[in-house]
Amino acid sequence: MERGALGMSGAALGSGSFVGKGIVSKLSKFSQEVPISSSSGKTKICQVRAVSTDSSKTGHRGRREQNVDGEFYVDRSCIDCDTCRWMAPDVFRRAGEQSAVYNQPSTPESRLRSLQALVSCPTGSIRTVTPSKDVLQAQDTFPLPIHEDLRGVYHCGFHSEKSFAASSYFIQRQDGNILVDSPRFSERLAKRLEELGGVRYMFLTHKDDVADHKRWQKRFNCERILHAIEVVPDTAEVEMKLEGTGPWTLGDDVELIFTPGHTRGHVCLFLKDRGAMFSGDHMGASMENEMFLDTVHNWFSVEKQLESFEALTSYNFTWLLPGHGRRLKFQDVDEKNAAIRKVVNDHRGLSSGRWN
Ligand code: SF4
Repeated sequence: MERGALGMSGAALGSGSFVGKGIVSKLSKFSQEVPISSSSGKTKICQVRAVSTDSSKTGHRGRREQNVDGEFYVDRSCIDCDTCRWMAPDVFRRAGEQSAVYNQPSTPESRLRSLQALVSCPTGSIRTVTPSKDVLQAQDTFPLPIHEDLRGVYHCGFHSEKSFAASSYFIQRQDGNILVDSPRFSERLAKRLEELGGVRYMFLTHKDDVADHKRWQKRFNCERILHAIEVVPDTAEVEMKLEGTGPWTLGDDVELIFTPGHTRGHVCLFLKDRGAMFSGDHMGASMENEMFLDTVHNWFSVEKQLESFEALTSYNFTWLLPGHGRRLKFQDVDEKNAAIRKVVNDHRGLSSGRWN
């Protein structure tokens, strides 16, 4: 899309506490929907029940010995993305450089959270000893409302290994619902999104987190938005290509902010009326629930990323919804800005720098 076509409005923490984003393991059987290609060339969606495995099995799909005994366990294919640990912190935790079950779920709520984590796991690494009949019910709970104070904003679950396990979000709004980055394609999820009004736009923060964008576009006939710099052959047919440095608007309530650094053409989405910043891989939150700049997976320029961090002090948001890591809710804009300044100062080695 040409600059302005959307409506132009004018114009780190220490590494090591984030996720194993760069680790790639092969997808295996998931306890959920899988696409099957038929001889006619058409794709069908089949339901696959939770996978029952021999818990003594060794190798890639074997049960990690760090799991406690019981029904749920994490196998050795875990890529340490952290998702299960923030979705069901009472059940999953980090043990070594992978997740493990440290408490078996003991209440219906805890079991549901564990199954939601199982559905969301990008590598199908969460398993049950016997097929779990309620996994399909857990699938139907997505998208999950994020918080009562953040109306109409949902976590899609169904993380994809193709997007290095990134979270995607669904935003309900008057001028057309938005899918922020791409979840793994699931017809069950698509039906739920349809019930919530469907998808008019699919906003892609940058080239890494596009996963099944083609299937979502086909399912909803939505318009995909991506900065032109981020376009690669796989995304060449994206409907709207942002040009220049913006900002761009999408109605009165959404501003798209150019935030180069992680990649050359990264863009964040600011949902103004709800004070929420969807930060993709630009700005994250660590396992210690602190704002985070990931220098390990920086593909362009850390210095540019720091400049883009600084620029976000002029935006009034208190919710940070990142592609990787945990969500943050700040008490107010001052607290958010203090967190940004801390990251910038820490990375620049400033104890009292220009921000103080
Ligand atoms: S969600 Fe899956 S891949 Fe991610 S940390 Fe948990 S078990 Fe590992």
